[in-house]
Amino acid sequence: MTRKFNFSSGPAALPEPVLQRAQAAIWDLDGTGIGILEHSHRGKAFRAVLERTTARIREVGGIGDEFAVLFMTAGATHHFTLVPQNFLRAEDTVDICHTGVWTAKVMEETRRFGKLHLACDAGPTFDATPDAVRYSASPRYVYYVSNETVYGTQWQAPPAGSPAPLVCDASSDIFSRPLPLAGHGLIFAGAQKNLGPSGISLVIVRRDFLATRRQGLPPLSDYLTYEREGSMSNTPNTFGIYMIGEVCTWIREQGGLAAMAERNARKAKLLYEFLDNSRRWRAHARVGSRSSMNVTFRGATPELEAELLARAEERGLSGLAGHRSIGGLRASIYNAFPEEGVRRLVALLGELDPP
Ligand code: PMP
Repeated sequence: MTRKFNFSSGPAALPEPVLQRAQAAIWDLDGTGIGILEHSHRGKAFRAVLERTTARIREVGGIGDEFAVLFMTAGATHHFTLVPQNFLRAEDTVDICHTGVWTAKVMEETRRFGKLHLACDAGPTFDATPDAVRYSASPRYVYYVSNETVYGTQWQAPPAGSPAPLVCDASSDIFSRPLPLAGHGLIFAGAQKNLGPSGISLVIVRRDFLATRRQGLPPLSDYLTYEREGSMSNTPNTFGIYMIGEVCTWIREQGGLAAMAERNARKAKLLYEFLDNSRRWRAHARVGSRSSMNVTFRGATPELEAELLARAEERGLSGLAGHRSIGGLRASIYNAFPEEGVRRLVALLGELDPP
């Protein structure tokens, strides 16, 4: 059976050499005679994996010691609650840059802990990241989602001129381009798009920001527990940590984040150029805000969209339906997604767009 081109938004396509290495490591990790799924998290072999993964992340991301690198057995959604719980008191205000589905969920959670100021609002169409951000007088932090997975928009640079540390949900574009650490207090990302499997998240948190968290939280809800215990206060997702390390090694082999950015831009351009010149297909996101990770688009009619999905499936192009909340189509083309898959999609769209 041949593998399909997987356009899923996450869990998503992983680099094939990584999958092959992982297959071998499930049987026998680094010649230890025990597989990665079976090794004790307290043993020497897994310790080496954890150290290797952390070192790779720091190297690939250019992350210095002023930041702690944490792994949490939690999806990105957990952080929607944990961030305000750790950093917000009832009298504090958070400035939110509202760009779609993922900030709407965060707003709901944040209101349970403190006040909210809408610093910008891309609604109701959510087809661009806002030009102007109006900060409140003294926000506790400024929250944004670097890449809006559902609507297919992406901040080309972090919101400018923030008067407080930035907190970023980078779940759907982490390590797709050089990491803009300046100004950030905390960056979190669920792993299942660009880093590895689902159910584990990476947190990059500035140590001085971490020091300002609220005291007295339950240990597993307190970011400091993970920093103090080296992400090992309880049994971590050992396989997830292994996979993230291997994916980072692969990124390094490809030439690092600058090379990733170049390759992602090239893939996205193929698709956007086609859409901009088509009569029957059009991109949702506006120029200047377009995501290089999730290309959202519409067909002229629902019938045309249905036909595309059916034909795509026949050709092994899988996972192109848009998010259930907005419909349409979405091609998720993360780091590991091959350019050949994008070419095949463009060819198919072209067949359904005769001159
Ligand atoms: N944030 C963003 C930007 C996402 O795209 C997603 C998942 N698609 C999430 C958060 C939620 O991640 P999880 O399901 O791992 O909690």
